[in-house]
Amino acid sequence: MILRIDEPLARHTAWRTGGRCGAWVVVASLAELAEVTAECRAVDWKCTLLGHGTRTVWRDAPVVGAVVRLGGAFGLVEAEEPAWRVGAAVPLPALLARAAAAGRAGLEDLAGVPGSVGASLALDPGWEAIATEVEVLHRGKAHRVSLAEARDGKKMILAATLALRPDRPDAVRRRLDRVLGNRTRTTTPASSWYAPSRIPLREVFASVQLPRVRLREVAIPATAPEMLINLGGGTASDLALLQKSAQERVKSTRGFELDSRVLWQGGAT
Ligand SMILES: Cc1cc2nc3c(=O)[nH]c(=O)nc-3n(C[C@H](O)[C@H](O)[C@H](O)COP(=O)(O)OP(=O)(O)OC[C@H]3O[C@@H](n4cnc5c(N)ncnc54)[C@H](O)[C@@H]3O)c2cc1C
Repeated sequence: MILRIDEPLARHTAWRTGGRCGAWVVVASLAELAEVTAECRAVDWKCTLLGHGTRTVWRDAPVVGAVVRLGGAFGLVEAEEPAWRVGAAVPLPALLARAAAAGRAGLEDLAGVPGSVGASLALDPGWEAIATEVEVLHRGKAHRVSLAEARDGKKMILAATLALRPDRPDAVRRRLDRVLGNRTRTTTPASSWYAPSRIPLREVFASVQLPRVRLREVAIPATAPEMLINLGGGTASDLALLQKSAQERVKSTRGFELDSRVLWQGGAT
């Protein structure tokens, strides 16, 4: 287990924002995760899972609690027949590549989705027919439930059993390419925004002169305007302000709402 007390979250988050948290913990096993959650309960701390952080901007205020990343055993794929058991910390793009190479179909609709399997199971459509069982943390133990139950209860997802269909690797790869191709026409896989239907995001941003807009240390870059980025030392409150100004500019000049994919975590900025 890696444990750092009173740790700046900005050292560990994808957007490099976040105040100090009571504890930053990387757990390697179920036993370690159970220990951390029990300790948090004992001192009345919130315990929050962070996946790969592709959707989460941590606010600048201190976090009274532990922020936990799954590591070690949670990063394993047990590719056994007839079903695969996949840990919550496995990167989704790596799982898709492995399934294609092994000639296992069913995950193609998730092509281009960044982040971890655990967060994607918790949030994204595309798993319903495939994830036959989900392991969640319940009273310090792994408990098997349906995907719907895991989502409804906002449980910590540990792993899932996936029913993948056998197919030819080249056929799976072709479908992955097709899904990715369709998706990148309107958005890009790592976008901070939901594209308005059928209108390419880059075209929208260019038409309202958003690329290159900078606010202190956060920016909308010219090379990837669909991303909000931290140039180094930027804050979550500046990211929020930049996001709001971009949305207002698109609304006033193009007439539609631009929804954000970003989840804001932690206390007020
Ligand atoms: C078709 C499609 C396209 C997408 N495109 C994009 C895109 O362009 N840009 C984008 O940002 N996102 C996109 N997403 C969504 C996003 O990629 C997924 O939700 C992703 O898997 C997030 O992973 P992460 O590990 O980075 O999440 P994080 O940002 O780390 O976490 C997101 C949330 O999930 C919770 N969480 C993390 N791990 C677990 C777990 N093990 N159990 C329970 N809850 C957990 C966290 O507490 C947090 O609330 C897309 C999704 C789909 C279906």
